[in-house]
Amino acid sequence: MLSEFALIDRFFARPAPHALLGVGDDCALLAPSSGMELAISTDMLVEGRHFLPDADPFRLGHKCLAVNLSDMAAMGAAPRWATLALALPEAREDWLESFSRGFFALAERFGVDLVGGDTTRGPRNICVTILGDVPSGRALRRDGARAGDDIWVSGELGGAALALAHREGRLILDEQSLCACRERLDAPIPRVELGVALRGIATSAIDVSDGLVGDVGHIAARSCLRAEIELELLPRPAALDPGDPAARHALLAGGDDYELCFTAPPAARESVAAAGREAGVAVTRIGRVAAGRGVAVLADGRPLPPEKSFDHFG
Ligand code: ADP
Ligand code: MG
Repeated sequence: MLSEFALIDRFFARPAPHALLGVGDDCALLAPSSGMELAISTDMLVEGRHFLPDADPFRLGHKCLAVNLSDMAAMGAAPRWATLALALPEAREDWLESFSRGFFALAERFGVDLVGGDTTRGPRNICVTILGDVPSGRALRRDGARAGDDIWVSGELGGAALALAHREGRLILDEQSLCACRERLDAPIPRVELGVALRGIATSAIDVSDGLVGDVGHIAARSCLRAEIELELLPRPAALDPGDPAARHALLAGGDDYELCFTAPPAARESVAAAGREAGVAVTRIGRVAAGRGVAVLADGRPLPPEKSFDHFG
């Protein structure tokens, strides 16, 4: 059995070119660039709640970082450093080898250095803290939406929730759709480039981690406005039939998509489209911000009755 320190050395101590000092001392030392604000966020994955005991460790390594990178994206911040707190019931080398490969493959893709962490025995629990930077005053906050703004979303919604529903036997997907949706659930690609490209264009942003209606509701609440979403406009996988209640639930309230939902004034439509092209991701206009409170989902121009939509979102 590996000792704690041999484990850290073997699987997690890597060069940290963007840090003054990385793994191995009591603290890491970082030098934020001048004119930048630090953005910091933590997300935890707990066995039994966020993943199953037999989850593929490579994909877990990917996902625990991806969900944190998604928070950076939602602020328009560039991710730079991360720490990793790991509780594991046992130090299994094959598990750690795959997990760390999944983690570092994504870290390298986005130029993130792992600079520290903690490792302890316990029920499996994976907690990543991500640090990044954004030019002063230019972060994409939830409270910046203005009445009259368009509401946009990147990529597609509902795929991850469809895969989960299939896994839990609540609906059945054909093999091809299942493959695509499972990728969304197990290996989401955070929209970091899009977040950065939207600086100075979007008035507010959030990542869709808990479901569109709930998450756009956070923008509405923080901006003291009302969000109106049009069901027909929501970008969705071909397999998702919005006429089917379980599928519509996945589209409106399914979590784990890690797309960006953001607002921008109508005058910025061309700039938003250009940001999407620059980031290589589709961006779709799905509604508007208006005076009032809360979220309305419109189908054929009429609000969906609450019992048909909002009872899913409690
Ligand atoms: P301390 O006793 O100060 O908490 P530790 O002995 O826990 O330090 O950790 C030794 C070094 O290894 C520290 O630099 C810590 O940040 C790093 N570290 C521990 N666990 C991990 C991990 N899972 N991933 C990355 N770095 C880690
Ligand atoms: Mg420690």
